[in-house]
Amino acid sequence: MKKTLFAIAAICACLMMVSVNAQEWKSGIQWKEPPVVDPGPEPAAPANVPSDAIVLFDGKDMSAWNNGENWKIVDGVVYSGRGYVSTKQVFGSIQLHVEFATPSEVKGEGQGRGNSGVFYGPYEIQVLDSYINKTYYDGQCGALYKQNPPAVNACRKPGEWQTYDIIFMRPIFDGEKLVKPGYVTVFQNGVLIQNHLRIIGETSFVQPPKITSFDEKQPVRLQDHGNPVRFRNIWVREISDSPVQPIEDESPVKPIDVFGPQD
Ligand code: MG
Repeated sequence: MKKTLFAIAAICACLMMVSVNAQEWKSGIQWKEPPVVDPGPEPAAPANVPSDAIVLFDGKDMSAWNNGENWKIVDGVVYSGRGYVSTKQVFGSIQLHVEFATPSEVKGEGQGRGNSGVFYGPYEIQVLDSYINKTYYDGQCGALYKQNPPAVNACRKPGEWQTYDIIFMRPIFDGEKLVKPGYVTVFQNGVLIQNHLRIIGETSFVQPPKITSFDEKQPVRLQDHGNPVRFRNIWVREISDSPVQPIEDESPVKPIDVFGPQD
């Protein structure tokens, strides 16, 4: 009887694994491993906040966020909790500053270690403990999830404070039609890891990136992936969209005529 139950349980477990794996989408791109760069020691204190920034979390409360009540604040730091949090205010293109620390007690491996994420609308910059923790490169810390790995692995050790400074240039739509792609630039711990990268589409676990038109303004979101990742000092500055310049308008730079008109 025991053997039969064990066999049934094993079959169920196999079927579950198959169904989970069947859902995952992989790009199939053979990326090179991002080289490790030591960004230096963790900052002694949170970074300064510019005077025109909109503060999303200053250590006191999560009132700027939908579902913020389900993320616990301890000693001025908020732990990722039950469900994603999403800003009540929505934004166009942004400069975003986020400080985070993956758990100092290392548990799990790959995608199961210190997983969270920083989103603008449907686009995720991965948060993961990628300090000596291999996973697929376009899913490691600093990746535009499943689209592009970070240029380098600039992670600090588990438990140490890290910074993201992210520029999300939103895509521009005319109705359903994309007229200007979105781009993302990311500095992790002051190190450039994504440089004006074109966003191909939503960053999904189960589907290839697909661009879908959305409202002009989007929330910032933070992911709950079941790991207690800490956050502090989160602020955003809304920035202007760069002008839409059709490529045919680009003309080569003309030399300056220093001698003036010739007779
Ligand atoms: Mg994530």
